Amino acid sequence: MNILFIIFAIFFATLCGVMAKRKNRNIALWVVLGAIGGLVSFIVLALIPYICPHCSKNFSKDSDGTRCGSCGKRDALDSNELIKLESFKETLMEKGISVKHDGVKITITQKSGAKLKFVGIDSLEKYVLS
Ligand SMILES: [Zn+2]
Repeated sequence: MNILFIIFAIFFATLCGVMAKRKNRNIALWVVLGAIGGLVSFIVLALIPYICPHCSKNFSKDSDGTRCGSCGKRDALDSNELIKLESFKETLMEKGISVKHDGVKITITQKSGAKLKFVGIDSLEKYVLS
């Protein structure tokens, strides 16, 4: 097998993997597709919509361009929500809950290791205050 072919396969596998993560898509699947299909797979992945982190449906942007057309939630927290999240992060930690925010996806993990579904900053705040 040509060494150049292998280098291209690894290159597009990596590229597709990174983009699949950003689009909330199946990373393993797109790494394989990237290795096999190369540039073609990359272009296809670039064109398909990303998956809403809240409702797991295709994120079709609505008129204001930032909300999910299916569930109405934003694809990322705005600056006010980020400040809010930071302000009660410590209280959550005291309750044994860690919150990670990577710019798009929010991961909430309980002390037991179980993951909680993020249903909005307001319900998270209610939980802190309860
Ligand atoms: Zn949604």
